[in-house]
Amino acid sequence: MSPHQNAPLRRQRRSAQRDSLRAIMDRDRRLISAQDIYMNLRSAGAEISLATVYRHLQNLSEAGEIHAAYGRDGEALYRRCSDTPHHHLRCSHCGRTEEIAAEAEQESLSQSASVLGYGDVEFTIELVGMCSGCREDDGGVRAV
Ligand SMILES: [Zn+2]
Ligand SMILES: [Zn+2]
Repeated sequence: MSPHQNAPLRRQRRSAQRDSLRAIMDRDRRLISAQDIYMNLRSAGAEISLATVYRHLQNLSEAGEIHAAYGRDGEALYRRCSDTPHHHLRCSHCGRTEEIAAEAEQESLSQSASVLGYGDVEFTIELVGMCSGCREDDGGVRAV
């Protein structure tokens, strides 16, 4: 839809791709696979390869903008994150994820690590449970 059919720089295209990749992840903050992102971008008309999607995800992940988690079959799934220290709380049923603030732990664990001589310590803990919506659907909460 954009008129920049003869956009000159590959670099420009790359950052545009990364922006639309971000937009997809912003729209729905569930965990999403590289394959799903790829399909989304392709159906929106983007000329992008799956390998490039992986590369963007890798970069965003290194920049701390997204976090990776692993599905039951070991497939990597990604999620757009806030930039404050947090842990993830994930529903094992529908894949919905929340963030749990982790500033206090971040500090105290970093301190413990620095006692052992480590710097630049980063971590994300993933908690897995079942969200309220799924627990209701399951009949586990509401007896009919
Ligand atoms: Zn995160
Ligand atoms: Zn759920």
